Amino acid sequence: KKEGKNKFRLFEPEIQSSIERSSTIRKKLSEICGSHYGLSLAYQPIITHDNSQYNHFESLLRWHDDELGSISPAEFIPIAEESGLIHHLTDFVVKQVVNDLQEKVSRLPDDVTFSINISAFDLSKPSNGLSTLYDALNSNPSLAKHINVEYTETALMEDEALVLKNLNTLREKGIRIALDDFGTGYSSMTHCHHFPVDIIKIDRSFIHDYHSNVASRNIVDCIFYMADVMGLDIIVEGVEDQQTCESLKSKAFGMQGYFFAKPERLESFLQSSD
Ligand code: C2E
Ligand code: CA
Ligand code: CA
Repeated sequence: KKEGKNKFRLFEPEIQSSIERSSTIRKKLSEICGSHYGLSLAYQPIITHDNSQYNHFESLLRWHDDELGSISPAEFIPIAEESGLIHHLTDFVVKQVVNDLQEKVSRLPDDVTFSINISAFDLSKPSNGLSTLYDALNSNPSLAKHINVEYTETALMEDEALVLKNLNTLREKGIRIALDDFGTGYSSMTHCHHFPVDIIKIDRSFIHDYHSNVASRNIVDCIFYMADVMGLDIIVEGVEDQQTCESLKSKAFGMQGYFFAKPERLESFLQSSD
């Protein structure tokens, strides 16, 4: 475009290097599938009204590669989804969360919950990530009350019947279901009618300008109203300042954002037992 009309180039260098990076990431992901080498979990607290200590956390996947350094999940999760490798990552996350719950349960409050992000691909195709979760719940049913599952409604839900079946199974086992990134993309109130949903997570794109943008504020207030009518809890994402916190704390079941805490290793949120 910069060179004027009627000039075509098949590949700009940036496009070429972005394609190369994606393919490197894909290759590296396939290499670590079995070992989970370089993967870890960060946890971000979700603050609720009655909190004097942190008791709700979202687990967020972290990947450090020796050569590429730290890679954001926003970059590698879509590549894992496209290449069918996501199930291995979900498998890692589920095992780690279950392990953290079991190992550190004595240092955690009784009503602690850990949220797991489950990809639409795990729900709409046979997934060893989901099987690992079912196995863990079958051998220890009391884990269910400590686990929430977050998923994002996407166009990728090819097999809606299987998604529905999986969500219903999770819920029957006692897991609470959160619809993530609400307000963006495809997520809608209609979805909440047809699929089992307990919690709506309002996307941070509406929260970060709640005070400065009338449209965002109206949308958020409208979602609060509808969630109330439908008996759903709301978690607001991306709370970054006091003003937003003050405006939303009486309305939301939970709040999450850098104002309270960034995602960190679980240990940094646990009270020392010694
Ligand atoms: P998400 O599920 O919406 O997770 C929230 C993201 O917002 C996290 O980014 C978190 O660090 C970030 N965040 C939280 N509070 C604030 C804030 O106040 N300001 C800003 N600017 N950001 C905030 P993260 O960890 O980079 O994850 C990005 C996305 O990658 C996640 O969005 C989720 O879609 C995906 N993801 C992360 N971990 C997993 C996982 O274990 N499985 C799957 N399937 N997806 C994951
Ligand atoms: Ca999430
Ligand atoms: Ca989200």
